[in-house]
Amino acid sequence: MTATGNIDVKHPLELDKPRLSVKKPETRHDRQGEVPESERIGQAMRHFVRDFGRTAALYMESCVHCGNCADACHFYVATGNPKYTPIWKIEPFKQAYKREYGPFAFFYRLLNLKAKVTVDQLQEWQELIYDSCTVCGRCSLACPAAIDIASLVSLARHGMAEAGLVPHELWAVAERAEREGSPLGATPKVFKDRLEWLADDYDIEIPLDKPQADVVCTMSSIEIMKYPQSIVATAKVMNHLGLDWTFRSDGYEATNFGLLSGKAKWQRDMSMRLIDATIAAGAKLLVLPECGHAYGALRWQGANAYGKPLPFRVQHISEFLAEHVAGGRLKLKRSGKSVTYHDPCQIARRGGATQAARDVLKALGVELHEMDPSGDTNWCCGGGGGVVTIHRADPLRYKVFQLKMQQVEQSLADAPVTSCSNCRQTFDDGQAHFHWDKTMHSLLEMVADNLEGASK
Ligand code: SF4
Ligand code: SF4
Repeated sequence: MTATGNIDVKHPLELDKPRLSVKKPETRHDRQGEVPESERIGQAMRHFVRDFGRTAALYMESCVHCGNCADACHFYVATGNPKYTPIWKIEPFKQAYKREYGPFAFFYRLLNLKAKVTVDQLQEWQELIYDSCTVCGRCSLACPAAIDIASLVSLARHGMAEAGLVPHELWAVAERAEREGSPLGATPKVFKDRLEWLADDYDIEIPLDKPQADVVCTMSSIEIMKYPQSIVATAKVMNHLGLDWTFRSDGYEATNFGLLSGKAKWQRDMSMRLIDATIAAGAKLLVLPECGHAYGALRWQGANAYGKPLPFRVQHISEFLAEHVAGGRLKLKRSGKSVTYHDPCQIARRGGATQAARDVLKALGVELHEMDPSGDTNWCCGGGGGVVTIHRADPLRYKVFQLKMQQVEQSLADAPVTSCSNCRQTFDDGQAHFHWDKTMHSLLEMVADNLEGASK
């Protein structure tokens, strides 16, 4: 960071790696439902305006057009395309504000100084609000006027979701999560079967549906379906600590595609499943898995869904591990590996738990090679905010991922580690696409593999 608090970034022209060519995404605008255009635009505008609030209104008036946010955004930096300037991404939002809500709204309408936002415009903006924003908050950190652009993008997604203008893959997984309890088909039955299979295969106790427990653990659908070894790692750590813990089939899935799609009701429903299950178990602690947005949804927005402070603590798994390391209860074998840590945006920059993973890595005795920049100013992997689900965004995402590859290479570490399964999936996909020799590792799994006094 500079003395003024702005972020120093390298422009792509300074990158010394050869850049791969990326196909231009096809133009595609997705819509949900068959409603008249006027109704669709009305829904979007009502939600844009309703969600403004005093803080958002102040944000909208404060932009000094300095351009700092552009240099902080990986989508702009990787492409140089001005349409990816963060503040530009919320232009229809701004237009709606000026026309419908701002101090001179009456005159804007009377003199038609700000035109009405059209459905065609919103369709074009779909790419900017969803495909090219991971809600990583790097622009928010760089803005001298303290405009939280990432939050404004999230609010803009509310209007888009209500108008039925969400990219179809993201809509499909969010709708499935609302209907079945999981975006990837990890229904309670699938989850139960997986736990039984893993308990059998790894000869480990994995409690499910204990009526009462001190700790309720959760997983992300990506872990359940793609990285089931994370379930085993969770059980190993909890059992090793001798805790009274359980998974609950009425609240185990921590991903929140309601949040990512912008469908506020679904976001609340998904959060309430975890909240109700934790209360039903009488637990004092809800442990969230290696999933960045799950942390944001519950740790920072859970009380809003519940309507009052949550009657239990919420921790990301890296915070949980760090707390037990600090308390001397979790002793780890020193691994000596050479690693670099990829900070998940929603846990570090947006979540504030930047140090926890480093404390755990220190206890693991690894040789930590920090990326430049790292911690709160770390570059996003490019797959957050639901972007990894949107296939038409793949070429753009791969372009952005090269920033990450460059950072990892320049760290000179043997392997990257993270604490978010969504980042891990984005890295795995990028690794396959670029035939890269670096495989992403899970912090939790490293811990589970190095428990002092435990047999492997
Ligand atoms: S939140 Fe991240 S991805 Fe979105 S505009 Fe800001 S810097 Fe870019
Ligand atoms: S950094 Fe802030 S003030 Fe500067 S252009 Fe972006 S939003 Fe406006």
